[in-house]
Amino acid sequence: GDEFDIISGALDLKRKTVREIMTKIDDVFMLSYDAVLDFSTMSEIRRNGYSRIPVFDKVRSNIVGILYVKDLVLMDPDDNTPLKTLCDYYRNPCFFTFHDTPLDEMFRALREGDKGHLAFVQEVVDDEDHDPFYEIIGIVTLEDVIEEIVQSE
Ligand code: ATP
Ligand code: ATP
Repeated sequence: GDEFDIISGALDLKRKTVREIMTKIDDVFMLSYDAVLDFSTMSEIRRNGYSRIPVFDKVRSNIVGILYVKDLVLMDPDDNTPLKTLCDYYRNPCFFTFHDTPLDEMFRALREGDKGHLAFVQEVVDDEDHDPFYEIIGIVTLEDVIEEIVQSE
């Protein structure tokens, strides 16, 4: 029954990691820091329907901010406001986590919510050619973790 699924889903949280449930970075709807909030961009935002939109500079792996769609309520598309103006004004915090974070820990962190309900998932890239660096490989939201708790298999 439902209760059994929820309890076993909750018990699984300790041994599953964010990597298993994240939305992969290539599937994330993002905007470029250089974008302009004109009619076409605003329409695209509406069409995609997400409440939180990561903002990248030059390359998608370089996250510089996060746009909350609610921050757009005062925007007039005819003003062609640069996205960077809005990003620099609101400065919404970005929250990062490692790919191997267990879901119970992730659940607690996202639920506290002082950093928002979305985390960027990162891993260390360590090859011969250069010094190790962090790469963002996906995003995870509270919704993803809750989905994992209530799923019936
Ligand atoms: P809300 O329900 O608060 O309006 P939302 O629908 O934008 O938010 P969530 O409910 O947090 O997003 O997540 C739903 C799914 O969409 C999750 O799998 C999450 O990883 C994914 N998701 C969230 N934001 C984006 C985005 N910008 N691009 C692609 N996928 C996203
Ligand atoms: P999000 O986190 O996706 O931006 P939100 O902060 O608007 O959404 P929720 O996180 O869904 O809202 O809910 C937080 C709390 O605020 C809940 O207790 C909810 O009942 C309450 N709440 C949501 N919308 C309103 C509203 N318009 N007026 C009063 N309380 C609200």
